[in-house]
Amino acid sequence: MEAKLLQETDRCLHCGSCLSVCPLVNAGVLGSPKKIGVYAAKDARKVNHIITTPFNCTFCLACVNVCPVNLPTPEVVKRLRGRIKHSKSIEQLVENVRSSGNIFGMGNDERGIWSIELDFPLEERIDAKAEVGYFVGCNSAFAPSLSGIPVANVTLLERAKVNYMLISDEKCCGMPLVMAGEEGVLAEIAKSNVEEYRKRGVKVLVTSCPACLRAWKELYPKVVKVPFKVQHTSQFLLDLITKNKIKLSKIDRKVAYQDPCELARGCGIVKEPRLLIKETGALLLEFKEKGLEAECCGGGGLLRATNPQTSTKLAFSKLKEAKLLGAEAIITACPACKQNLLKAGGNIAILDVGELLLAALPSNP
Ligand code: SF4
Ligand code: SF4
Repeated sequence: MEAKLLQETDRCLHCGSCLSVCPLVNAGVLGSPKKIGVYAAKDARKVNHIITTPFNCTFCLACVNVCPVNLPTPEVVKRLRGRIKHSKSIEQLVENVRSSGNIFGMGNDERGIWSIELDFPLEERIDAKAEVGYFVGCNSAFAPSLSGIPVANVTLLERAKVNYMLISDEKCCGMPLVMAGEEGVLAEIAKSNVEEYRKRGVKVLVTSCPACLRAWKELYPKVVKVPFKVQHTSQFLLDLITKNKIKLSKIDRKVAYQDPCELARGCGIVKEPRLLIKETGALLLEFKEKGLEAECCGGGGLLRATNPQTSTKLAFSKLKEAKLLGAEAIITACPACKQNLLKAGGNIAILDVGELLLAALPSNP
């Protein structure tokens, strides 16, 4: 299976299309595309710098999007990551997921720490029977700078009177392990997460993390039956607004929307976040590259852990473009994007689309 995947690279036409869209090449990390093109001419397997630098990849899927022969470069990169000795930060991350059930190595019983910011009790929702399950994801659950994401989402669900629940024993979705080339415990994680929601009667599972979404939609079905629908929060919330279950007031703000790679190219979800932004009355400004062609912000593929300078450099370029557009805020729909854009600094607000909706939620329904 692995050998077959690596052989896939022999189908490469050396057209160089992938190099022109690769954020790591464009950031100058991997040398000039011309230089890599020379390698490519000598050895097809080097065309996407995959042999020497498998951790210099954000899994943005831009290469797959333009490749005329659909070469699965990110899949090859994942396999190669599993073959090399990992850096200390990656070793630690893998160990954290294995031993603690989350990427931070925190006590998994602290997953609900963000809920102290709520102005209503959440206890009765934990491990309750309900039709809708909310999967928070490690980043939103533990990173203080991201707590606004789950706070916004459950507040919106409350306002819409959705019968929802969360599980106390949520485990990392497993995608970070797969990104590190370590799929060993994925089946165990998937079975545990699915069972926790299944036994409580969940019919729809929602998450605001595109990486978690892809784990649930693409990886879990390979190892366990997922007996319910899985959606991104932007899809679920748009449906609630369309059905008039959430009423919003209008916001006077100019915002730019950053398509998360895993949500746009990974899941094909580009219109829902934009429609949600328009529902708030905010003026939507578009980056030059958007939707399926969007430029990666540098926050994916564990690049933040392995090459934070480049990760920040890519995010900074998005901040700069947003400023030139005249945006007062960048809206995204991914905790990893939000975190990476925040780390780049700058005096521009970075919000998840759920947080923008919350800002437009009237205090009196
Ligand atoms: S997934 Fe993105 S970062 Fe990785 S090789 Fe492809 S274009 Fe480059
Ligand atoms: S776009 Fe595809 S065919 Fe063209 S160089 Fe890249 S991997 Fe090879």
